[in-house]
Amino acid sequence: MTLLDLRGVTAAYGHVQALFGVDLAVAEGEAVALMGRNGMGKTTTVRCLTRMMPAGGVLDFAGRDLRALASHDAARLGIGLVPEGRRIFAGLTVRENLTVAARRGPWGLAGVHDLFPVLAERAGQAGGTLSGGEQQMLAIGRALMTNPRLLVLDEATEGLAPVIRAQIWDAVGRLKAAGLALLLIDKSLAEMRSVMDRAVILERGRSVWAGAPEEITGQVAARYLGV
Ligand code: ATP
Repeated sequence: MTLLDLRGVTAAYGHVQALFGVDLAVAEGEAVALMGRNGMGKTTTVRCLTRMMPAGGVLDFAGRDLRALASHDAARLGIGLVPEGRRIFAGLTVRENLTVAARRGPWGLAGVHDLFPVLAERAGQAGGTLSGGEQQMLAIGRALMTNPRLLVLDEATEGLAPVIRAQIWDAVGRLKAAGLALLLIDKSLAEMRSVMDRAVILERGRSVWAGAPEEITGQVAARYLGV
């Protein structure tokens, strides 16, 4: 079943249009990578689907029209966002960061601690004292505590050391195996390839290419991703 369904999505920052027609669907249990060079509209698309900015076109989630909802309602409907720049609560403990987000469902502290054991070790520490990688794990854990039907990861491994990136991608792979639907945005094609079922590429605010990971040939990567 289609969970997220965006069709012809448009959006603007003031008078400057940023999205001109984005088509993007994520089915239940599917992992879709949203790709494209810098400034092509990936984060803007995420802002539209999480209702942080107004958008035109079709934006449906689980059969509901997202445009009728406020951003907290979108979260309640089951969209879990790990935003770019991992915004955790620096003054709250790690445990509090997780429990304030909690909503009923299978994901709780035990599951998050199992996924990222370091969060159990650091449970009583202030969020702000964690390393960048640990904060990113906390941001993912917090999104999971909301028991989302779709987890959106916007640049979840940006600026992290390779060993930490590997841990996070391993965890993302386990979420995928557990059947969670994922929308992935990341600069690393190699790491996303291991998890994604499908990719959608944006160019200047439009979805211009969609396909399976094995169809992302060197030519496609050079044309749309600059790699
Ligand atoms: P990146 O990989 O650099 O994060 P992106 O694909 O996520 O890029 P967006 O951040 O969605 O791209 O940007 C799409 C367009 O919207 C760009 O032209 C960008 O300059 C513009 N834009 C993004 N955020 C804002 C903002 N807050 N105000 C005005 N323009 C913005």
